[in-house]
Amino acid sequence: MKNFYVFFMLIFLCNSIIAQNTYKENCKRSHISNSTQRVNYLQYPTMNKYDIKYLKLDIAAEANNYFISGSCCTVSKAVSDVDSFVTELKSNMTVDSIFVDGVKKTFSQSNDHVIVKLSPSIPTNSFFSVLIFYKGTTISNSGVYAGTASNNTLSYTATLSESYQAREWFPIKQILSDKIDSTDIWVTTSNTNKVGSNGNLLGVDNLANNKVRYRWHSNHPMNYYMPSIAVGNYQEYKNYAKPAAISPDSILILHYIPNSQSFLSSNKTNLDKTPAFVEKLSELYGLYPFYDEKYGHSTAEISGGMEHQTMTTMCSNCYGESIVAHELGHQWFGDHVTCAKWNDIWLNEGFASYSEYLMAEKLPNLFSTSAAASMLSVHSNVMRSSSGSVYVPDASVYDENRIFSSQLSYDKGSAIIHTLRFEMQSDSLFFKTLKNFQTQFKDSVATGEDFKNVAEATCNKSFADFFTQWYYGQGYPTYNVTYYKSTANTLLLSVSENVSASTYTSFFKGLLELKITSNQGDTTVLINLNSNDQIFQFNYNKTPTGIVIDPNNWIINKNGTISNSIILPVKILAFTGSSSNCNYLLNWTTTNELSIRKYEIQYSQDGINYNTIGTLNALKDSENNYAFTFNESTLANCLFRLKVIEENGSEFYSNSINIVSNCNIAFEVSVYPNPILNNEINVNIHSNHSGVNQLYLYNSIGQLIKKENVVVKKGLNNPFRWNHLGHLSKGTYYIKIINEEGQQINQKLLKN
Ligand SMILES: [Zn+2]
Repeated sequence: MKNFYVFFMLIFLCNSIIAQNTYKENCKRSHISNSTQRVNYLQYPTMNKYDIKYLKLDIAAEANNYFISGSCCTVSKAVSDVDSFVTELKSNMTVDSIFVDGVKKTFSQSNDHVIVKLSPSIPTNSFFSVLIFYKGTTISNSGVYAGTASNNTLSYTATLSESYQAREWFPIKQILSDKIDSTDIWVTTSNTNKVGSNGNLLGVDNLANNKVRYRWHSNHPMNYYMPSIAVGNYQEYKNYAKPAAISPDSILILHYIPNSQSFLSSNKTNLDKTPAFVEKLSELYGLYPFYDEKYGHSTAEISGGMEHQTMTTMCSNCYGESIVAHELGHQWFGDHVTCAKWNDIWLNEGFASYSEYLMAEKLPNLFSTSAAASMLSVHSNVMRSSSGSVYVPDASVYDENRIFSSQLSYDKGSAIIHTLRFEMQSDSLFFKTLKNFQTQFKDSVATGEDFKNVAEATCNKSFADFFTQWYYGQGYPTYNVTYYKSTANTLLLSVSENVSASTYTSFFKGLLELKITSNQGDTTVLINLNSNDQIFQFNYNKTPTGIVIDPNNWIINKNGTISNSIILPVKILAFTGSSSNCNYLLNWTTTNELSIRKYEIQYSQDGINYNTIGTLNALKDSENNYAFTFNESTLANCLFRLKVIEENGSEFYSNSINIVSNCNIAFEVSVYPNPILNNEINVNIHSNHSGVNQLYLYNSIGQLIKKENVVVKKGLNNPFRWNHLGHLSKGTYYIKIINEEGQQINQKLLKN
């Protein structure tokens, strides 16, 4: 609590010192051309040692004039010991004096930074105020825009600080992660002007010399590029939005517009749409975050709109319903929650652009173009280029043309939010995700990964593939569909895709709608595409006439070929075989076998005549592995093939494979029982050759007692009972077996 006391004392200090200052106004006007494209950007890391809690600008500015003078006071908390206070301010601005905690300090300016050495340093966790008196002619159209509008009576000076231009007109650290917790923005100008800025207008003070001072205050945290002023000879026009959540209260919508009746009458219809947008977006995203302050527009020719917190700056020709919806959408996405890094500008521009779509979808009467037509044109704009990611790569993070690429950050950014909504298959989950994201990251910053995590937690589903393909990845798919009526009630759809930037994204997985057209009525089906050439089977008893790919335009894609033909049946990815332990082992893998009934396994010795040796029914999964063992070892080698029989009765064959038997069992003989019983013996021959073997029985002095030929089959146990040997007396005997190769085995036998 003590710290808070100090904090408020410091704010008081900011105000009391400013009040003593008198401004020396210089009406010099200068136009300097825009700065060249930035390729790098120096920031002193020392600025991370403090966290800005409060900002007060007390400046003088006139319409159609680039000169700004006044003071900037910040109250900050030391995150670590601050031995020098560093802030950013363009070097063309002159610093007159600096006070730290009310004490005047020496300072230096270099590399567009202002540096104040502090001794002793400000200790960690303490609050300190820095008051800077400065003035200068700002660089034209770089942070400050001033001029007159030819088509009406407007004379204006307005600021636009995004992305790196706040320092053009006031001293500030341009670090996204440090939001300024509250602000006072006071602007002194001629009493013919009005001044639009952030938050609530606390008052307008009449000063000497026909001057007025506008005092704006905001209690909501805002990013460094949000503080803004728009000074002009405006007329004021007001609406009130009445979101259900705060009924019967309302939110002021304050428009500072060119002071001509014709401007008001030609723009009134669109200005009057603003309350409806505030109310609808409050339903969809959560209550308008700054409902206790206001929303509004100030007019200045900044070539577009800029979503300054609670008061968008808008060019005089920009009050179309789409830009009004876009800048309003930013109040949630960009202002309330800001991208943590410029890489993730999607969180600002993608969602603001999708706000345009949502307003057209939800409030079609307020739009001249349908939501569907606008999404179609967004898609075609994206596909003018075959590559490019929504995520801004590190190499481009200082390139404002890339950050604010209309094709990637705005259009593709909006389109992939639409696709994500489709992937969720639930508007309830989709809008819950948006609200959860707002709640979780309000008054703070977030990354694309943060959004992904909220979506995954809300939907209890992984969106890893989605973000890899659509956010970090590049390009888009072109879908090809073949449809085939395989039975009276079955439709098969074979779907494949080509991609436009295969180096970066080789395949787009995900849901896809296909509309099957028919004279008997169209049918839309949903498939989940996981790999190329997937076949999908549907119960379908109509006669199809064609396919419409992605009929509701959820996905950035192009149409490839659509054909009605017999879908190439099963793909046999691998048909292989081997021999093991005198068995033939066959294996094959298939895909797309929805149309297949069964497989017959056939073998042949001559490659002409095939015999079926087994049948397996088709498993009909998207990919299947089959194994079959042929228990026949008498054949030295075999040809095998698959006969594939389809559900409709047609059939085809796989290629043939030749397998050589590895049956290499040695010539083995066992004779039993030994000693001999009952004048008979059993002989078991195991040979790696088929053929006729000769058996001989001799007595101990080599006399042949009996001889017999037996037929032996290769690889098998070939048992023979050899009886009728006559009476064998006690003694020693020998048995000799000779196989077809001439190999022989002798064994000694005993008779007791
Ligand atoms: Zn925008």
